Amino acid sequence: AAKAAGRGRAVHYEGNMRHDMQQRVAGVRRIKAALAEDRVLPYYQPKIDLTTGALYGFEALLRWSDGDGEIQRPGVAASAFEDAELAAAISTRMIGKVLEDLSALLAAGRPVGHVAVNVSALEFQQTDFAARLLNDLRERGIAAELFQIEITETAFLGHGSDGVEDTLRTLSAAGIRIALDDFGTGYASLSHLKRFPIDTLKIDQSFIRDLAQEGEDASIVRAVITLGHNLGMRVVAEGIEDLRQAAYLQAQGCDIGQGYLFGMPMTAAKIGSDAFWQKFAIDTGRWPDIIAA
Ligand code: C2E
Ligand code: MG
Ligand code: MG
Ligand code: MG
Repeated sequence: AAKAAGRGRAVHYEGNMRHDMQQRVAGVRRIKAALAEDRVLPYYQPKIDLTTGALYGFEALLRWSDGDGEIQRPGVAASAFEDAELAAAISTRMIGKVLEDLSALLAAGRPVGHVAVNVSALEFQQTDFAARLLNDLRERGIAAELFQIEITETAFLGHGSDGVEDTLRTLSAAGIRIALDDFGTGYASLSHLKRFPIDTLKIDQSFIRDLAQEGEDASIVRAVITLGHNLGMRVVAEGIEDLRQAAYLQAQGCDIGQGYLFGMPMTAAKIGSDAFWQKFAIDTGRWPDIIAA
């Protein structure tokens, strides 16, 4: 019976692997179609200054609509980021769209603050990445200080890390801020924080989930906030879904918060609307009180 069960599991496992493979192939095909048919559209999620309650800025997140109009998240096409050419194509399109949106929002007088884009390791391996980005910003008249890059710890791995260091130095020297995303979950060693020009730590949302229970996650979060501040960095918490989490982070001196509590990722049209800014004008300054209550 044990043998039969084992075989059953093996068949099930192979079935899952085939299913995963098909899903990956389908995901890549779908994002390629979205690129070809200009259906990539960034969504923007607000970030809040936890001290003042003001809007700090937004994180741009990759979204695209499938042919039927359904909006997809990056996870669907995760393996697309393992292909250098495709990763570069997505990145170029995504950054192009973000700069277009940013120009339009600024021209409309919307004080969007700092806008961050996620960039994966392979995208940095385009040697002209920094030069092109700085040129695009200049052409559009967008201050580099408004633009941020979020990288994950995987950017530091492998042969490309010298090139990554050069790229980051060029961007940083031009005023672009660099955030280390998903901090605490990957391979970053503390020496990376010294070697690379990182000015923001983003605590991974997995540490935020059970924060209010004062267990190990809370200890880790406090340690990361202290570490970041001692290194002169800003600390952001992502994945904040409720007021207890926000209150804990605020009490511990975390600088910036992001999560469904403050706002979902939304279209550029939405963050360009009067309704969005009216709501934020009301919430600004109230968040610290709401959180503390
Ligand atoms: P990330 O950069 O850590 O982004 C945060 C993720 O958490 C986003 O998922 C966001 O929708 C989600 N999120 C935000 N607030 C909450 C919350 O309160 N609770 C929970 N449970 N989740 C929340 P998304 O958009 O699916 O993106 C997943 C990852 O894909 C991102 O993680 C980022 O690493 C990557 N990604 C997104 N856009 C791009 C892009 O344009 N280029 C590249 N290379 N990677 C991207
Ligand atoms: Mg990010
Ligand atoms: Mg993250
Ligand atoms: Mg994450």
